[in-house]
Amino acid sequence: MSIKQHIGGKWRLGRGRELQSIWNPATGELVDQYPSASVEDLSDAVASAVRGFSAWSQVSAWERGRILERAAANIRQRLEQIAEAITEEQGKPLSESRTEVERAADFFVWAAGEAVRIYDRCIPARSGEDQRVCHVPVGPVCAFTPWNYPVVLVAKKIAAALAAGCACVLKPSEETPTAPTLLVRACIDAGVNAQALNLVLGNPSEISEFLISHSDIRKVTFTGSISVGKLLANQAAAYVKPITLELGGHAPVIVMPGCDLEQIVPQIVSKKFHNAGQACISPSRFFVHVDLHEAFVDAFARGANQIVVGPGHDKGVQMGPLANARRRESVSEMIRSSLDSGAILQTGGSAELSGGFFVPPTVLDNVPSNAVVMRDEPFGPVAPVSSFRSLDEALTKANCLEYGLAAYAFSPDPKTQDEIARRLEAGIVGINCLPAHLPELPLGGWKESGLGVEGGAEATQSYLRTKTICRRRDV
Ligand code: NAD
Repeated sequence: MSIKQHIGGKWRLGRGRELQSIWNPATGELVDQYPSASVEDLSDAVASAVRGFSAWSQVSAWERGRILERAAANIRQRLEQIAEAITEEQGKPLSESRTEVERAADFFVWAAGEAVRIYDRCIPARSGEDQRVCHVPVGPVCAFTPWNYPVVLVAKKIAAALAAGCACVLKPSEETPTAPTLLVRACIDAGVNAQALNLVLGNPSEISEFLISHSDIRKVTFTGSISVGKLLANQAAAYVKPITLELGGHAPVIVMPGCDLEQIVPQIVSKKFHNAGQACISPSRFFVHVDLHEAFVDAFARGANQIVVGPGHDKGVQMGPLANARRRESVSEMIRSSLDSGAILQTGGSAELSGGFFVPPTVLDNVPSNAVVMRDEPFGPVAPVSSFRSLDEALTKANCLEYGLAAYAFSPDPKTQDEIARRLEAGIVGINCLPAHLPELPLGGWKESGLGVEGGAEATQSYLRTKTICRRRDV
């Protein structure tokens, strides 16, 4: 019962009755249990955020930037401890956890720079007024983050919110709480106003209902599934609160004729099975021109087969288990139903390692468009492949779903590259590459994949609101 929550500037155990459980995904064993936040805890966290906001929003932008830079330095200094916690609770290989922590620090450095780039604007007046447009922090924010990247997805939100001068009540995933807790410690130790950064843990729907409906919370931000995103958007709409949503994706990959498979397939294999496919921008539907189809599937299956799967703490492991039993069941069911719909299993399929939540890297060929895995985000190590004959057909298939987060294509022909880049309907498009979400790049889902943008110069903007001040100096 070691997991504490950060409320009112102090670390304390939740006072709720319900216990939350932490499982080790590599063994399937219970690691720890801890008490949820009570309604009183949540109320204290909001009151603290209100107090913290009045202090933190008055700290100069340069000073906020310096503090966020120190937070980044603390995160890097504590990298091993944070990475260990990610692997223990989420399952990914330690090397991936380390990269995630580095990336989280990068988000703080980026936000530190953006803090001093929030500019007011003067508008020429028709007569003698001063007309000024100010961008001011929106107020206390509630932030909900998931378990697939327990640290970097928190960093994206709180670094931008703090840079803008906002206070936060953060609710990370109840299943992977330790690493976010360490991240918040790194921020407080760096000098972030302790009242301004609160962390609560517990039943997600009870916490989100409380926080979104609270009159002192001025903005909502969520990363997670489309279904929960829609629910929270409805709750926020009832109070006319702004909301940022970073939701699911089902990223198509188009492979055009003339590609060098030896060069592109290793990149695709590595990106597809990174974090066991549990990433919103993971490549997850593969459309390959008929001329290359057979060779591509062959190379893809061989690459997938060579991935070393095992507990994330073991040396040499390239892919860990899925993060929880729900994901293992859901992905296994998707594979079963794809095979029922006529897909051909090239490699993987059923779990070989017992105990943990493992599903092997799986490649499915000739997957019909109506198979569940082609329609619903797999969020796991499953790669469905099908072929096409014309670019129009490939783009129609790529754009046919209500997802629009990421999309990728490979082609040696510059004209085709231009056309694909123009016609793919997604917030981030990779041509001949599979980009990561870096702090300097804006990422915002199209269609049902999201609302608003995280990253880039846009990141801080979403934590600001506009105030226009017209002033005459004489009366
Ligand atoms: P889920 O929708 O139950 O939970 C996703 C996350 O949302 C969890 O961290 C959970 O704590 C949180 N959550 C759930 N209900 C909530 C509520 N009412 N209020 C606030 N937060 C809430 O799904 P899951 O089983 O954990 O994951 C399954 C699906 O979620 C995946 O298939 C994937 O589509 C999606 N997902 C997306 C991302 C992403 O990065 N966009 C991350 C995790 C999960």
